[in-house]
Amino acid sequence: MRYFDTHAHYFDSRFDTEWQGSIEEHLDGLFQGELAGVVNVGTSLASSKAAIAQAMRHENMYAAAGLHPGDAGDATAPFEEIKAIEALFAEPRHKLVAVGEIGLDYHFLPFDKDLQAECFHRQMEMAERLALPVLIHDREAHEDCLSMVRRFPKVCGVFHSYSGSTPMAEELVSRGYMISFSGTVSFKNARRVKEVAAALPKHAVMIETDCPYLAPHPHRGEINHSGLLPCTLAAISEVWQMDMEECASILLENSWRFYGLDGRKE
Ligand SMILES: [Zn+2]
Repeated sequence: MRYFDTHAHYFDSRFDTEWQGSIEEHLDGLFQGELAGVVNVGTSLASSKAAIAQAMRHENMYAAAGLHPGDAGDATAPFEEIKAIEALFAEPRHKLVAVGEIGLDYHFLPFDKDLQAECFHRQMEMAERLALPVLIHDREAHEDCLSMVRRFPKVCGVFHSYSGSTPMAEELVSRGYMISFSGTVSFKNARRVKEVAAALPKHAVMIETDCPYLAPHPHRGEINHSGLLPCTLAAISEVWQMDMEECASILLENSWRFYGLDGRKE
């Protein structure tokens, strides 16, 4: 069985402060085992650079660069930062596979809705220019994320760690988007998100850790890493009433295809 972690943040400082030993060595071990690939997702200019540098060290680690809505509020010059992020794509970087993560986050107060929307809009334009998929973060902003997607019919992408409704997921899939589930789908009280996973066509689903956050059941609260992804895989296979092996191969195929990495799979 092999699996693909479609969204991780291995540059996060929690891997320096809370992880026992070297996370790089741990990743080497996982890649020698069942882990087929990881996309290391930046959230700012600095972390996007760090994500790329880390991806250079592992053959099957790829990277995404973008300005996260949470980081947009902290940036001194967010629009300049977005321009600098776009410049990263101009260098011959075969490791950069997507624009992300971008989107809207209305959870943490205070936030600047207009600033988030403008950063999101500019990065959707960037993705359209680059002809790359977007990795969308939608926290308590379902309506506004959906209307942004509708404004860019030529852009495709994924809603990561999905938390919206089934009808919204169905509209996204009809627009060519993917839906990615994190460890939250394995939580005991995750009835709603399990219902979404059950309703979707299987070609439109991917899984991710979003590590170091969102560790799956029974590791909830621990520092998350790609080695725990089989717990999320188990939750999806249960929802689909399919054996893990078959489920894993569908999700793996979806991930290679989504990131345009078909030519690189072993
Ligand atoms: Zn993330």
